[in-house]
Order: sequence, then C-alpha cells, then structure tokens
Amino acid sequence: MNPTPEDANHVPRPEHKTQKRSITFCPRCGSTNVFWASGLPQLWSLWECRSCGYRGALILKDSKLAEKLQEDYAKKKGNR
Ligand SMILES: [Zn+2]
Repeated sequence: MNPTPEDANHVPRPEHKTQKRSITFCPRCGSTNVFWASGLPQLWSLWECRSCGYRGALILKDSKLAEKLQEDYAKKKGNR
C-alpha cells in the first residue's frame, strides 16, 4: 500500500490531541447548543447559545446542573 502525499501532510484533528472532550452547557437553558464565539481580541472568551440566544463569558460544564437547568427552562417556557 502506498500512502498518499496528501495523508502525510494532513494535519491531525484537535480531538486527537485532546482526548478528553469537555462538554459545555448554556448557563441559562442548559442546552449543549453553545458555540465559542471568538471574534474581538479583547473578548477572550465569549459563548453563544443557539437555543435561547444567550451570550456571555460564563459557561457551564456540569452535566448534572445542566440537566436541572434544562428542566427549569422547559417549565418556564411552558408557563408562558
Ligand atoms: Zn441557552
């Protein structure tokens, strides 16, 4: 088998380096639909939730807490 030159130059994926992938949750609704918005240099970390529109530096990494938040958020939504 001949390895193609493209494979040799292929940059390994980030997840290969960091085996432990931390899951992030939205601190408002507990959704995992959060993305790290890296734009302006002065904003060293800004997260954006696509489920509730949350934007901020605070992010949740506790899955148990996120589950509670999801429940609470669903209740709040249902009451409206
Ligand atoms: Zn959210």
